[in-house]
Amino acid sequence: MIIARNPDQIFVGMDENRGLTDAIGRQFEYLRLSLTDVCNFRCTYCLPEGYRKVHGRSHPLSIAETIRAVRAFARLGLWKVRLTGGEPTLRSDFTQIARAIAAVPGIRQLAMTTNGYRLAEYARAWRDAGISTINISVDSLDPARFAAITGHDRLAEVLRGVSAAQAAGFDSVKLNAVLMRGVNDDELVAMIDFVAAHDLSLRFIEVMRTNDNVAFFGKRHLAGTAVVDQLKAAGWQRLPRLPGAGPAVEYAHPAAKGRIGIIAPYSPDFCASCNRLRLSSEGKLHLCLFGDGGIDLRPLLQGDDENALVAQIVKLTATKAPAHRLHMGDSGATPHLASIGG
Ligand code: SAM
Ligand code: SF4
Repeated sequence: MIIARNPDQIFVGMDENRGLTDAIGRQFEYLRLSLTDVCNFRCTYCLPEGYRKVHGRSHPLSIAETIRAVRAFARLGLWKVRLTGGEPTLRSDFTQIARAIAAVPGIRQLAMTTNGYRLAEYARAWRDAGISTINISVDSLDPARFAAITGHDRLAEVLRGVSAAQAAGFDSVKLNAVLMRGVNDDELVAMIDFVAAHDLSLRFIEVMRTNDNVAFFGKRHLAGTAVVDQLKAAGWQRLPRLPGAGPAVEYAHPAAKGRIGIIAPYSPDFCASCNRLRLSSEGKLHLCLFGDGGIDLRPLLQGDDENALVAQIVKLTATKAPAHRLHMGDSGATPHLASIGG
């Protein structure tokens, strides 16, 4: 860390060569931006009762506030932004927000994660707006199971969206599947075959324990090693981590164009390579998905003092904890991942 010499005095605590870093030297390149905590699905591990606002209505950041935030993070060297939620595409101004973020100087990659319910209709518009990579949640390829997991009998519609995304020319189209013991763990081979046949990539995500899903987690959590063992047995090989990559460990196979990734937050050293910061839909900075609640940046996002905003982000990032405490049964203050943007 260095003390800034420039007249703005905004880079105190920032490493001049490595961009935004924390106290243990992790470098931040990737912003996960939640556009809303509202969702129309009722995924069993996330919002089994559907969306319910606890304290009054949701007041997501406006486009102007969002762009102020992205400009500040970009100034600190973050170059990849993922739009998430809740379901980000429920925002009626979603395409407009995407276009505005894609135009922020320094943003080199704009990604999104969606449950796919509007994808068939809007894939091309979102691609044209500047989104280059897309993750679509598909936890089962069986229509009845998909409906039981999400509360919506829409698998066919979501898969039409996946095809539309491929046709629209995204640089990467990935499926996200949450691994659940006794729910979809018998589908691993079918899913791997499906992505290989359709030239897609797939992420298996271990169920994460949140404050609202403790009993579900206890019953359904399955370690990602179950997938890794099957991949290795079928000749898949581990790939080196790419710059700006998310938390997945990736595997490739000579006969498949797509890759398979495993997100295993309970594995040792998961936090050592953390390169991500999160901004909630109401403007709270979350240094960790499982931290002690976010820190409100909204007053700064409503003003026009960008230097003060940048300085605050630098100061807060320096306090990021070295690791989450999930393995101790502590999910921090996170009720469910829709509240922060998983
Ligand atoms: N609504 C969008 C979707 O479902 O793709 C974006 C938001 S969702 C919170 C982002 C990702 O987090 C999804 O892939 C979802 O499956 C995953 N997710 C949500 N809750 C989770 C949990 N408790 N454990 C693991 N993954 C979870
Ligand atoms: Fe909604 Fe995504 Fe949570 Fe499912 S995982 S309930 S789609 S926010």
